[in-house]
Amino acid sequence: MIIHPVEISSALGRCRVSATIEIETPGRVFPKTGTRTQELWIDWPESYLKPTEARPDGFVIMCLTLAMCLGERLQVRGAMSQSLVLNLLEAMAIYKHYFLGLCEIVDLDAEGEFRPRGASARVGSFYSGGVDSLYNIAESARLHREFGTLPITDLWLIQGMDIALDQDDLWEKTKSTIFAQLPAGHDMICADIRTNVRDLHYKIVDWEKLGFSVVLGGISKVFAPIVPNVLIGSYAKYDKIVPHASSPLVDPMWSCDEQSVRHFSCRASRQDKIETVATHAPYLLQGLRVCHKNTGGAYNCGVCEKCMRTQAQLIIGGYQQLADTFDTELSSKTLRRLKLPWRWENRFTWDFWRDIQAGFRERGETDLDHALSHVFRKYTVKRAVRRCLGGR
Ligand SMILES: [Zn+2]
Repeated sequence: MIIHPVEISSALGRCRVSATIEIETPGRVFPKTGTRTQELWIDWPESYLKPTEARPDGFVIMCLTLAMCLGERLQVRGAMSQSLVLNLLEAMAIYKHYFLGLCEIVDLDAEGEFRPRGASARVGSFYSGGVDSLYNIAESARLHREFGTLPITDLWLIQGMDIALDQDDLWEKTKSTIFAQLPAGHDMICADIRTNVRDLHYKIVDWEKLGFSVVLGGISKVFAPIVPNVLIGSYAKYDKIVPHASSPLVDPMWSCDEQSVRHFSCRASRQDKIETVATHAPYLLQGLRVCHKNTGGAYNCGVCEKCMRTQAQLIIGGYQQLADTFDTELSSKTLRRLKLPWRWENRFTWDFWRDIQAGFRERGETDLDHALSHVFRKYTVKRAVRRCLGGR
């Protein structure tokens, strides 16, 4: 796979970096376009940053797992941060260990150069409106007050990940809703960023296993000259970590000479995170958005596993009135329709719900507790049948 030289352009108030990505294996094409080459691009408001130097670093991260899934060496046209070269060698070894059979360690044909870190104190965090991103804001502010650590200064919302490039209505609604929740007079800079990277990953890279973390890492690199610290939200505490696209082992590998990337923070469970947000920045919950289904452009459908799980955790904390963003409210009736995954690799979803059941019991939510017991019985049988039939 060749990453051709990066170009910078501007149009209609937005700045764009792009590069042609070329598959080298004879007969292989990008399934989305049916071509051997495709342009990969990232754009953002021109007022946020006008880059002066075209660098391949972000593109190399975004294409790393693509090349690994295709089993192609990765050739980079242009110099990249020398410590990122070292980190990518580590990242490949981690992903190969995590997902044996899905990807290979490939040769990296790249030139490293040292770039000194600037004096800026800016901290960037990805901002989707989800629990993890709200926690990053609330917890960073708390740590700043307690220890004098750096607070978040830059919020990055991305179209082209959970919200597709053609879902403009949902994108506009999400942007306006979550940016509107920030307190008046705040001094964080909000940048909306777009990328077509999923078009290149389409049918080659498994999004949950090898996809989304490289996108976050790649976008971070574009802003490395002005934002030397980046937070990527964690999904579970250390004792619940399983092989995943984004983990405390992988995400720091997107660091380079100029920028540190932190997986933030496996100290806290999702329930702990909701508690932190509700305590230190409750207004943020008015924009809470956790749904990835986007069914009919819904902000939160209320009935998918993630919507139900989040509502259950809000109920356990006693905070459901702070987050009125779900189309369907959780009840014992809707909870009975919850679907649990049967695959071994998704076992952590069962762990989340076991913790939730303990929370229901502690709060005396008997109807919800019984509804969940019904779901566990049903899916324990289904899971056993699927595994007897040879599934894993
Ligand atoms: Zn949903």
